[in-house]
Amino acid sequence: MTPVLFQNNEAGRDAFTLLASRAVEWIAEYYKNIDGFPVRSQVQPGDIYKQFPDQFPATPVSDDEVFKILQEVIIPGITHWQHPDFYAFFPGNTSFPSIVAEMITAGISAQCMLWESSPAAAELEQRCMEWCRDLLGLPAKWEGVIQDTASSATLTALLTAREWKSGYRISKRGFDGTVYRIYTSAQAHSSVEKAVRLAGFGTDNLVKIGVDKNLAMAPQLLEEAIAHDLREGFIPTAVVSTIGTTGTGAIDPVDALSVITNQYGLWHHVDAAYAGTALMLDEYAHLRKGLEGADSYVFNPHKWMFVQFDCSAYYVRDPELLVRTMSITPSYLMTSQGDKVNDYRDWGIPLGRRFRALKLWMTLQLLGTDAIKARLRDHISLAEKIESLLGHHHSIEMAYPRSFNILSFRIKSSLDSDGRLTKQLSQEINNSGKAYMTHAVVEGKGLIRWVPGQTYTTDTNIEATWTLIQSLLDKIVTR
Ligand SMILES: *Cc1c(COP(=O)(O)O)cnc(C)c1O
Repeated sequence: MTPVLFQNNEAGRDAFTLLASRAVEWIAEYYKNIDGFPVRSQVQPGDIYKQFPDQFPATPVSDDEVFKILQEVIIPGITHWQHPDFYAFFPGNTSFPSIVAEMITAGISAQCMLWESSPAAAELEQRCMEWCRDLLGLPAKWEGVIQDTASSATLTALLTAREWKSGYRISKRGFDGTVYRIYTSAQAHSSVEKAVRLAGFGTDNLVKIGVDKNLAMAPQLLEEAIAHDLREGFIPTAVVSTIGTTGTGAIDPVDALSVITNQYGLWHHVDAAYAGTALMLDEYAHLRKGLEGADSYVFNPHKWMFVQFDCSAYYVRDPELLVRTMSITPSYLMTSQGDKVNDYRDWGIPLGRRFRALKLWMTLQLLGTDAIKARLRDHISLAEKIESLLGHHHSIEMAYPRSFNILSFRIKSSLDSDGRLTKQLSQEINNSGKAYMTHAVVEGKGLIRWVPGQTYTTDTNIEATWTLIQSLLDKIVTR
């Protein structure tokens, strides 16, 4: 017998409506109770795995049974990224409009590889990328495409740089022994090294440029490294700079770096995965300086723009170079329609593509940019408040200056010479279930990152978390 949920008839649609309504109610209830859950899941490895049977059922189980497993088995193994006391990594925010848009996207389930495979998806994506570009004040001529993640975008950038620099030879003949060099700072995200590896440059040819005291790449050291490599007969190929490093939010001097990349003929890719969203705020307008000299740029609406994962906006100065690298259709075979429309399969690695523009559009439509800017400013002022709390505590020191809403602190080195207590503090915060922060090692020393950027974080959350930290400090630090 065909399960009713496998039929597009009246009975099937009724069953679907019932199930979907139940799911929507479940989600609303989840948000009602979200701050009652431990932020970081408290399960041990294997705890969830062993509760599941060896096989899928051959015949359907009931809706009740499925919701029971969801509640009792799956939820305890979830780390609640939408919990207001989630301060770890970078936020992976959503919002109610974004959730609803994902439901509609799933309902339509179109595969958006070509213009023709859904013209509205392609054209809305084009519009959304223009709107985001203008909202962030990015160079007016840039064109963008939605990718799954910043990691994919950075790989795409390095592949494009490789083909551009080699005269499109490597994709045809492979590497011929020529050494191509890529430059980034030691603070760059691991996705840069991964992209270097996957693009075939070899990690030996990733040159980590030194940084200043705020962990920003030093342009002079970049120039020296390029000059050195030219003398060695290597081909300096690309620079990856960062606006808002993952460790501490450091900001590379994009402007000065663009001058160098243009002078020496290198590709300049800017990774603004998290902090890029802040460029929509006038008080960060200075960060746009020098972007017109860059070749590509990525930021993630799925981190700090309330559009849920996955939605990464990748911009290029010259789409022709991107399409020439990615397209499997030689340009002389392009249809006349191909000149008028964007076939986004040629703007990235995968052929198949989700209709991601819908959630970007719906979120911005239903929230409006004013409220989004206001929420970003709230997050930044929460961070300023935390900065002052931490800065005045006798056992704490700031590891690096606050950047955007990214704070890094540790127990004072005079009380914690080997960093063990700082590590212990982070573990106790996370084991409490009341807040979740990331412990990181930067320049050889441990620190705790506190990023108040979850959609619903308020003053009350900060105060409660601060009380928790103070009581843990009283216990851990014996003076
Ligand atoms: C989060 C982050 C990335 C990786 O983002 P994905 O979209 O998960 O690939 C890359 N760079 C920086 C600076 C980041 O903060």
